Amino acid sequence: MRKPKPKSYQLIRGMKDVLPQEDARWDMINKTAEKLARSFGYDYIETPILEDTNLFVRSVGEHSDIVEKEMFSFTDKGGDNVSMRPEGTAPIIRSYIEHGMIREMQPVRLWYNGPFFRYDRPQAGRYRQFHQFGFEAIGEIDPIIDAEILLMTNQFFKKLGIPISIQINSNGHPECRAKFIKAFQEYARSKRSMLCEDCKKRLLKNPMRIIDCKEEGCQTVASSGPQIVDHLCEDCRTHFTRVLEYCDEVSIPYVLNPRIVRGLDYYTKTTFEVWAEGEQEAAQMSLGGGGRYDGLAEDLGGRTTPAIGVALGLERISLKLIDRQIQKERPDIFIAQLGEKARRKCLGLIDALTSEGMSVVSALSKSNLKNQLEIANKKAAKFVLILGQKEIVDETIMLRDMDAGAQELLDFRKAVEEVKKRVQAYGVLVKDLKESGLTK
Ligand code: AMP
Repeated sequence: MRKPKPKSYQLIRGMKDVLPQEDARWDMINKTAEKLARSFGYDYIETPILEDTNLFVRSVGEHSDIVEKEMFSFTDKGGDNVSMRPEGTAPIIRSYIEHGMIREMQPVRLWYNGPFFRYDRPQAGRYRQFHQFGFEAIGEIDPIIDAEILLMTNQFFKKLGIPISIQINSNGHPECRAKFIKAFQEYARSKRSMLCEDCKKRLLKNPMRIIDCKEEGCQTVASSGPQIVDHLCEDCRTHFTRVLEYCDEVSIPYVLNPRIVRGLDYYTKTTFEVWAEGEQEAAQMSLGGGGRYDGLAEDLGGRTTPAIGVALGLERISLKLIDRQIQKERPDIFIAQLGEKARRKCLGLIDALTSEGMSVVSALSKSNLKNQLEIANKKAAKFVLILGQKEIVDETIMLRDMDAGAQELLDFRKAVEEVKKRVQAYGVLVKDLKESGLTK
């Protein structure tokens, strides 16, 4: 009897493979994020994927979309209610409190990068597992720190050449917000018939969500209603003015936007989103977002700890770079060989060259030299080493400089040392050319 063909499997809805075609873009985003974080003195933190469900209920908010509809939550084998993290700030504050980071010099500057999970409605740029990296400055109330986070956000997009605007607002602290919510709720009640079904429910439980609802009727209601900036107390107003002054100082492209209230309960004072330049507001899928969360540590059982952060989404940033021809880093060396003896020797050579920090590509399973050289060309290797039968006998190896087209014969025993010198000289040359503006 014929064996039945095994079932083939597909991605679960809302999930996405990061494929090798995306490697160059993905790598550029990750490296730029890490370099930026380190250059501003931020230390890396990694919290687990699973957390106590209540951590998010208490911080993000019981009536937020994330907690109400989007969390991957389950009871584990021990009977505990756990959730796959939908965002990064609450777990970091949990960790800050749990590990007594309040005893360190404040603000504690942290950055993170990893997968997050939301049972969102999938579409391009919206997945159920997505990746965010972010920067958090914890333990400082001064508005200059808000400016630092905004400066880093702006610098990140400048480095990648993605034009953006930072849509900014202030949510005030809880007392300002309570006054505003009362005024807005009263107003929105009078416009109830214009609201979508979800927002009719939100009217009672979470009226702030009406403000960032994407439905046309709700947008009309929100834009002609009371605005939170008119309900700020003296302290919150001064804080916001300072943040904007500092942003002017470093030419951050911000736009005042009263509709940026954000979907999470913990935000206070400064709130912002990063929008790609030139996209319609209705079609807008933010590239990132953040704000202050001065009350979060206290809500999670810690001491009063003012803080601010930003989270940026890798998938959406990667989509913005899709038309860009991003060059993969060229391998330093391609090793070509002819004959079994040469092939064996190549293994040791690869070991030695990579141990010295050079990147090496080869096609040791191929025996045809022409095929191998075609691969070297395709991979754009800077140098090719060729080891044939004659070289084995003479104890030499051929080095070809692929850009110059020049060849030279090296003593096999000195090959690693010699090649390393050439690779280093190549690096210096490229750096000089970049600095003189002759090449990118
Ligand atoms: P938020 O915490 O919702 O403000 O999200 C911050 C950033 O994460 C957004 O601006 C997006 O870039 C990204 N993001 C949020 N949700 C998703 C999702 N479902 N799929 C892809 N990226 C997302």
